[in-house]
Amino acid sequence: MGRLIVVSNRVNPPTDPGVGSVGGLAMALAAALRESSGLWFGWSGETCETFTGNLSIQQVGGVTVALVDLEEQDRQEYYNGYANRTLWPLFHYRTDLVAYERSFDEGYERVNTRFAETLRPLIQDDDLIWVQDYHLLPLARELRQRGVRNKIGFFLHIPWPARRLLTTLPRHAELVEALFDYDLIGFQTQDSREAFAEYVVQNAEGSVDASGEASAFGKRARIGAFPIGIDAVDFAKAVASAPAKAAFDRTRASLLGRKMIVGVDRLDYSKGLEERFCAYEQLLADHPDQLEKVFFLQIATPSRDEVEAYQDIRGRLEALSGRINGAYADIDWVPIRYVNKAYRRDALAGIYRAAHVGLVTPLRDGMNLVAKEYVAAQDPVDPGVLILSELAGAAEQMAEALIVNPFSREDMAEAMRRALIMPTEERRARWSALNDGVQRDHVGAWRDGFVGALEKSSRRPPPLKVACGA
Ligand code: UDP
Repeated sequence: MGRLIVVSNRVNPPTDPGVGSVGGLAMALAAALRESSGLWFGWSGETCETFTGNLSIQQVGGVTVALVDLEEQDRQEYYNGYANRTLWPLFHYRTDLVAYERSFDEGYERVNTRFAETLRPLIQDDDLIWVQDYHLLPLARELRQRGVRNKIGFFLHIPWPARRLLTTLPRHAELVEALFDYDLIGFQTQDSREAFAEYVVQNAEGSVDASGEASAFGKRARIGAFPIGIDAVDFAKAVASAPAKAAFDRTRASLLGRKMIVGVDRLDYSKGLEERFCAYEQLLADHPDQLEKVFFLQIATPSRDEVEAYQDIRGRLEALSGRINGAYADIDWVPIRYVNKAYRRDALAGIYRAAHVGLVTPLRDGMNLVAKEYVAAQDPVDPGVLILSELAGAAEQMAEALIVNPFSREDMAEAMRRALIMPTEERRARWSALNDGVQRDHVGAWRDGFVGALEKSSRRPPPLKVACGA
């Protein structure tokens, strides 16, 4: 194989591999890039007065990164606009929050064109190109228009929506057609893959065969489900680290013998935080025997705070936690601790381990790595219980969790109660099956599975040469 080129909106290779602040995805991609002397291309996160396409090429943690600045208008229309105010809510089934503004659409097209123009000169003949996520859906089309004939793969980290939802998007067919310029389109789950296939068949008069070969718009692409995992080996190191032990001791000491339920999420409306708070309130109302015996720690890391919907949810959660604490707290017990800050992953590992219940209840989620990290952090002798939304991608692989409907507060309250009193033997049996899966389906396996499938995908035939005057 030639070099691997990874393209993503933001570029974040670890500067110091093995440190607990670095995500598994970044580590896995960086390892593959180092091995193939590859390149990671994306937006620097900086804005400039006028787009120049000048590249900043640097070595970060042994990985070559190529960064380009965008204009402020790009940031507003492409990143805060089409990516995070149109596609993100739509793909998470929140049509009520979707902004359909033509300027966003134009900004998205413009940035994808700019990425393609800037990347084009860096591409060598046998490079394998791997594009990440919803910011860059039409990038392959732009590259093909500039003569790139390399194998190009695309992986969508978020859910692919049901076709009836997708058709609310102006120019949805154009977006899907652009995907057919990839050789391989990867989804997190079978559910997303099926939703895409259904669109191809029902809306694009195309077909998908049993092997995953999709045809539509006069083009072909392979489609497949490649569920992402965590870096299980590195996470085990994080669990055994000094910061994890310190976080574990600090958390357990604060419990005073009580049981703890933990939630760890970006502060995002797709994570079902309000519904979760209400479910916990229901638990306290329905089971007075749990009063003062349990508390709920919600870590909600601020995210995308330039977008209004994210500011709104923050205010609503503060009001809800205040209401619940106001109704139930006593001089020495607060039922909810709601924390708005980011923790390093090694500290999180200790907090997960200290929690008797991991509560992961998104209303819709591509995968959800917190569910997998919670499992990987548990003590095998005395493991905690994972409660998992059936609408998280992770639920396809984690059937031994207590699976709940995140829209039903009764369902979730019942699961919390069940988890809090679950006998050790059942906890161990469930955890052991879950942990086997988390260890087996790690992020390295995901990366190798995708890259292997991309390598195997058939190369595009050369463009037809039409004779002059024919
Ligand atoms: N995370 C973190 N610090 C925090 C909160 C979260 O490092 O304070 C990490 C967490 O460990 C996980 C990731 O952020 O690896 C969240 O990934 P997930 O798939 O659960 O959700 P996403 O934020 O990608 O929607």
